[in-house]
Amino acid sequence: MASVPVHIPGGASYEIVVRPDLLASAGLVLRKLSGAGKAAIVTDASIAPLYLNILENSLRKAEFAPVSAILPAGEDHKTFVTISKIYDALLPAKLDRQTPILALGGGVIGDMTGFAAATILRGVPFVQIPTTLLSMVDASVGGKTGVNHSVGKNLIGAFHQPIAVLIDPATLKTLPPRELRSGLAECIKHEIIRDADGFARLEERIHHAIGLDIDYLTHLIAHNVGIKARVVEADPFERGDRAHLNFGHTFGHAIEHVSNYSYSHGESVALGMVAASYTAMKLGMIDQASHLRIVTLIDRAGLPTGGLKLDTDAVFNAMFFDKKVKAGTLRLVLPDRIGHVVIREDVPKEIIRNAVESLGG
Ligand code: NAD
Ligand code: MG
Repeated sequence: MASVPVHIPGGASYEIVVRPDLLASAGLVLRKLSGAGKAAIVTDASIAPLYLNILENSLRKAEFAPVSAILPAGEDHKTFVTISKIYDALLPAKLDRQTPILALGGGVIGDMTGFAAATILRGVPFVQIPTTLLSMVDASVGGKTGVNHSVGKNLIGAFHQPIAVLIDPATLKTLPPRELRSGLAECIKHEIIRDADGFARLEERIHHAIGLDIDYLTHLIAHNVGIKARVVEADPFERGDRAHLNFGHTFGHAIEHVSNYSYSHGESVALGMVAASYTAMKLGMIDQASHLRIVTLIDRAGLPTGGLKLDTDAVFNAMFFDKKVKAGTLRLVLPDRIGHVVIREDVPKEIIRNAVESLGG
C-alpha cells in the first residue's frame, strides 16, 4: 500500500492511494473527504459487470447512495454524444455541489467523467478510480480532462483536479494483455525521462509486471504515479518540462495516425521511443549500449520495436501535424542519458527521417 501526495496549483493537494482490493473500501476512504449523501459513478459497459457492484456496495457501507451511469466502452465513444449521456443519467438524480462523481474505468472514462465533473453545476468534486495500467500511471494524474472531436483527439477539455485518486492494482487481473502492455510503454517512458535506477529495476523485474504479480505492480504504479506527479507539479499548465512526458509521442502520434490506429497508443509510443532513442544515438547524445538497453526493455515488455510497414514519408510528414508542433519546428524530447531528457529543436530532418526509416527493419 502506498499513498502519494500531489500538490496542485493554488496550494491544495490530494492523495493518490495505491492498494490491492482498495475498491471494496473506496467508500470509507471517500467518507473521510466528503460529507455528501449521494455519490455518482460513471463507468463503461465492459467494466460495469466486473466492478460496479463492488464499488456501489462499498459506497453504501459508507452511507453514500450511489447513482450510476454506464457508457459504451472505447475510444470511439469519447464524444460529446456520450458526455451528454452522463448529464442525462446524473442530472435527474438532483446532485448538489458536494456530490462527488467517481470515474471507474480507463482513461476514456476518466477524461470524460472529469469533463462532466468540471461542468455539472460549474464543478463538483471528482474522484478517479482508474482500472487500466495506462490510466493508473498516466491519465489519472495531472488534471487534464476532455473529449475528442471529429477534427482531432482531445481538442475540447478543461483542467479539473480530482479530490482523490484511488488505485486498486488487483483490477488489472481482468485487463486485456494488450492494454497492460500499453500502460507499460508509459512506465518505460517515465523511467527513461526521469529515473536511471528505476529503469534498471524495471529491467530486472519487467516479467513480474507481465505475469500480473500484484505486489510488484503496486510498487511499480506507486513509483510511476510519483514520477508523473512530480513532473506535473513542477509545470501544471504545460509551459516547460511537462513536455518531457511527450518522449516518444511525436513519432508515436504520427504512427498512430498513419496506421489508422491499428497500432495502439502504447505500441505507437513504443516505436516512437525507439525512434527517439535512435535519433539521440545518431546525434551522439547517447551511446549504442544505452540505445540497445532501451530497445531491449521495450521488446521485453511485449511491445514492437521494429517491423513498421508504414510509408516513411507519410509518418515523417504526419509528425509536423502534431498539435504540439509550433510553426513547423519539431521539438523532440531526446535522452542524453537513461533517466534524463532534453528538448531539441535543431535536429536535422534527415536524421528524423532516418529514424522513422529504421523502424522498418
Ligand atoms: P480505455 O479507457 O479505452 O480502456 C481500454 C479498454 O479496457 C476499454 O475497453 C475498457 O472498457 C477496458 N477496461 C478498462 N479497465 C479494465 C479492467 N480492469 N478489466 C477489463 N477491461 C478493462 O483506454 P486507456 O488506455 O485506459 O485510456 C486511453 C485514454 O486516456 C485516451 O482517450 C487518452 O486520450 C487518455 N489519456 C488521458 C491523459 C490525461 O492526462 N488526461 C493521459 C493519457 C491518456
Ligand atoms: Mg501517452
